[in-house]
Amino acid sequence: MTFRATVLTLYPEMFPGPLGLSLAGRALAAGGWSLETVQIRDFANDRHRSVDDTPAGGGAGLVMRADVLARAIDHAAPGGDTRPRLLMSPRGTPLRQKHVRDLAAAPGLLIVCGRFEGIDQRVIDRRGLEEMSIGDFVLSGGEPAALALLDAVVRLLPGVMGNVESGRDESFENGLLEHPHYTRPQMFEGEAIPDVLVSGDHARVAAWRRSEAERLTAQRRPDLLSAHRAGSAGKNSRSKA
Ligand code: SAH
Repeated sequence: MTFRATVLTLYPEMFPGPLGLSLAGRALAAGGWSLETVQIRDFANDRHRSVDDTPAGGGAGLVMRADVLARAIDHAAPGGDTRPRLLMSPRGTPLRQKHVRDLAAAPGLLIVCGRFEGIDQRVIDRRGLEEMSIGDFVLSGGEPAALALLDAVVRLLPGVMGNVESGRDESFENGLLEHPHYTRPQMFEGEAIPDVLVSGDHARVAAWRRSEAERLTAQRRPDLLSAHRAGSAGKNSRSKA
């Protein structure tokens, strides 16, 4: 079954954008996944086709209307559509590789892109939208977040990534950041490739990569390292039991 992505947006022209190129683009053209956009404005029914209004309670900015967005969602995902429904939102669950894996195993995704100050809370609640954030910063709209999320998901779909191996010891997959990479030329501006990598000794290479991954993770993401250590300690004690 083909993974089916539907994106609800005020800017459908932003799609497929970067997802039309490279790995994701080739898979899209080959039918390995599909992407449909829904123009939220098509579901406005007043003379001005308005999709937003002033915030209840006052204050700056505009809020996307619940009724218009709900009609767009109901059109895009009628009853029986079991795909997860996401709302890109800086308030959401921070996106992690484990979520990306789960989402890639789903039949597809419905993604709502917010604009302005955000969207009326009632449509989030009543349409069961799961809020997802791509980081602790504020974008002007959900579209770049949706593109980032879809990129991460699509590369995990069967057949999309040429080399399956290359997904294995990547950053986050084993709780660590990835080790550094080197390739030709052997000498670059007076700096050689580390000896161990040209030694041909696979066990030493693996040990070096492992210790470099741990060193980088300790230096840059101590939060990941403690979770990783807690995780492997848990596994060891379980296997002994
Ligand atoms: N007033 C909101 C920000 C609105 S930004 C607040 O302070 O929380 C406008 C839209 O951009 C949001 O509705 C959301 O869809 C998108 N967006 C902004 N930052 C994002 C992030 N870090 N992750 C995912 N979506 C984001």
